[in-house]
Amino acid sequence: MHRRTFLRRQLATASLLAWQPYELLARFRLSPYAIRDVKITDIKIHRLQATRQGKERTRQGSVKPIHIYPDQQPAPYQKVENPQDTTYTYTAHYLTIETNDKIEGLYGPIDAEVVPVINRQLTRFLIGKNPLAGERIWDQLYRLNRHARSGHYMMAISAIDNALWDIRGKYFEAPVYQLLGGPTRESVPVYASTLGRSVQPEDIQATAQDFQKKGFTAQKWFIPYGSGNGNKGLQFNIDLVKQLRQAVGENTDLMFDAFSGWDLPYAIRWAKAVEPFHPRWIEEAFLMEELDSFVKLRQQTSVPIATGEHFYNRWQVQRFLEAGAISVVQADPEWCGGVSELTKICTIASAYGAQVIPHGHNLHAALHIVASQSPSVCPMGEFLYDKMQGYYYFEQEELQPVNGSITLPDKPGFGLSWDESKIEEKE
Ligand SMILES: [Mg+2]
Repeated sequence: MHRRTFLRRQLATASLLAWQPYELLARFRLSPYAIRDVKITDIKIHRLQATRQGKERTRQGSVKPIHIYPDQQPAPYQKVENPQDTTYTYTAHYLTIETNDKIEGLYGPIDAEVVPVINRQLTRFLIGKNPLAGERIWDQLYRLNRHARSGHYMMAISAIDNALWDIRGKYFEAPVYQLLGGPTRESVPVYASTLGRSVQPEDIQATAQDFQKKGFTAQKWFIPYGSGNGNKGLQFNIDLVKQLRQAVGENTDLMFDAFSGWDLPYAIRWAKAVEPFHPRWIEEAFLMEELDSFVKLRQQTSVPIATGEHFYNRWQVQRFLEAGAISVVQADPEWCGGVSELTKICTIASAYGAQVIPHGHNLHAALHIVASQSPSVCPMGEFLYDKMQGYYYFEQEELQPVNGSITLPDKPGFGLSWDESKIEEKE
């Protein structure tokens, strides 16, 4: 196009737009300055409640760090033979961030522990801030309080960050995984996490084969015993791996979770004994402060070492990777700082050749992050099978895998909305 013609058209367009109200320009995203006008006006936490029906059942727990004390160990597992119908109260907390732009960020369920942090510490600071400048908000919240770098405070930052990503998705009318550069796949594979299921020899074969029939190609089991249960418990834990491998054959990955309940000598004995059954990983063998034990275990076994649902920021992850402690990072976007922080953690992990397979406390954020990363970095997510049945009870669409994979939602943000008809009480 001739330069003069081009300039004339530009001028004509500019004069046409000059009289348009600023809000109209903003609506059509014609001004790069439009985002300056969006402000947070309120933050609310909603406690939703409903009465639900279910079947009575006994959950088999995993080993816990405190089980080294005999008086703190659980009673022996006993199955309910004839489970009765039961009624119970289901409660879930959700977070909304309101703006002057009529866009509202919605995220949840969130943990009850973060409610006082948000109400007492964060809300007042966030009112008036630009919700689209999430990186600025994250950094400011991280610097706002000396306890911000971990624990309940970082869990609260995570909830805020995730709700801000929902706002960003609604503003730009795109699912979060698109804003993050995805999707890298149309659906995300998830592994079946069997938390709560019986690990008794007479039960495991049927459970494991049932998950295979549902289409899961990987399943994680929770180890019941630790050093407080002596050699008998150790042998049970070893036999569990052997029996499960026999039950599922060679084409299903088996992972095991020790819930921070072991010490180094115990972990080495278990790992050496189960190497022939090639587990895909042993998870949280130790409490997170015991970095040296993770390093030594990794040096002494071919079983891959995983941990990370209790990472609270990128710097903790980097230290573990630099020390050569783990090859699988399980940071959880509900706890480690939200979508913003887990995305950074994925970048760090990729530089160390480690995988990030996020812990599945809640699937919304984790699903969008996995869907935006290379399958070599984030090959799959976690699906806590029993927990997730009804976890999204108050939502219009429940995330459920079909044949071991979850199809990506296509709505803006995370695509959450409530089914108001199910809410009996709302505070
Ligand atoms: Mg775990």
